[in-house]
Amino acid sequence: MDPQALTTLFGIPGFYEQQLALNLPPKLPPDQPTSPLSFHPSTPVSKYYDPPYNLSLNTTAQHIIWYPPEAFVEYPETSVGGTLHVFQGITPATILPHLNIVYSLGSPKGQSTSAEPRKCKGILVDAQGNDMLCVRKLRTCQGSKVCPHADLDMLVAPHTKASCSDISDRFRTAFLNEKGLATSCHELYDKTIAFFSSLTQGCLHRHSIETEFTPEEREAKTLAQARVLEIRRGQKIDEGLCEGRLKLMEDAFGGYYIQCEHYPPESVRDHRISGSLQESDTNHLIAPFDNDQEALDAIEEKARSCGYGGLTACPYTTNSTSKRVICPYTHVNPPTLHRIPCAAKFIMYIPLDLNICPNVAILCQHEHPHPIPTPSKTPPAVACAILDTLLSMGSDVATLTPRRFMQHPVTRAMLRK
Ligand SMILES: [Zn+2]
Ligand SMILES: [Zn+2]
Ligand SMILES: [Zn+2]
Ligand SMILES: [Zn+2]
Ligand SMILES: [Zn+2]
Repeated sequence: MDPQALTTLFGIPGFYEQQLALNLPPKLPPDQPTSPLSFHPSTPVSKYYDPPYNLSLNTTAQHIIWYPPEAFVEYPETSVGGTLHVFQGITPATILPHLNIVYSLGSPKGQSTSAEPRKCKGILVDAQGNDMLCVRKLRTCQGSKVCPHADLDMLVAPHTKASCSDISDRFRTAFLNEKGLATSCHELYDKTIAFFSSLTQGCLHRHSIETEFTPEEREAKTLAQARVLEIRRGQKIDEGLCEGRLKLMEDAFGGYYIQCEHYPPESVRDHRISGSLQESDTNHLIAPFDNDQEALDAIEEKARSCGYGGLTACPYTTNSTSKRVICPYTHVNPPTLHRIPCAAKFIMYIPLDLNICPNVAILCQHEHPHPIPTPSKTPPAVACAILDTLLSMGSDVATLTPRRFMQHPVTRAMLRK
């Protein structure tokens, strides 16, 4: 297989640009391409315009990238001055290129898609070079969701493009969890926090025994229930569950366990009681039951110095289309995720008749002040790795079959990584 064909297939702009830098001299589109049908580059061709290129009366692009047919672009580059992506060889049966974009696209609020056909001057033209009438669709980026305990300064650092390594980094953080290569004290800390988090559910026993609460306790309970309701988005909470306080008990052998204050009443033996808690840090376990804030602070400070715990930033982020409401990482009270908004725009120009002009253009404007979204379809990180492997096989690629690919020494070297 021609390795170039693969760069086209996996279409990662950062990679394209590297390739472009290697292809000297790059073929540049004429300033006014008279006929796009005669213009079929085999690799993307990129050109900067200063002053910006006028697409219509008040729309300009400072950078235009022409892609060969079948290009697959998931992270189209954007810029403050506008980057126009021109996809060639689109037929009415082709999947339109905006559907490959990984950013969550939404319809702009208050602005409906213009029904009136527009033109994309000098770019979307017929064989004679006449501007085509196009459908113009506006989509806005929906940003990302992040944990409120995130390091926002870092997460909102704007990006305009995603390179191969950015995407694999993002892929790695999304699919490994927060722990990565966790130390044993980090594991122990997380287990203890997860245990505290499970205790916030209370006794869970069905048969309610009246529990006397102080007004402060009652207020805290009401707040906690409101939070649970928010997390469950209005879904009802079970009523009539035991509200007994959970206590930390010490057994005859110096071990600890948890028990509901109503355990065991005369006839009911099934209130909450845990087995011996061996997998927790004892000091950490006792501190909240003793209301020992000093000990808790010392534990958090030690965790922070090792790079984990409640005082460090939570690295969790997800795409704004994710159904997830609360942060899945280690928190005693997992917080509700926040959305980072984004003003980046995607303006699509689709000729009314693709048979006359088989090109589609997408204009990307503004930066993305949020993390790079995770790929949900083809994982580009995997694609990048395969691509690198294929490229390093050199001339062997021409005679490659799937079986030979798997047995090739270069593939085996990659899989060992
Ligand atoms: Zn979090
Ligand atoms: Zn952790
Ligand atoms: Zn019962
Ligand atoms: Zn109970
Ligand atoms: Zn965005």
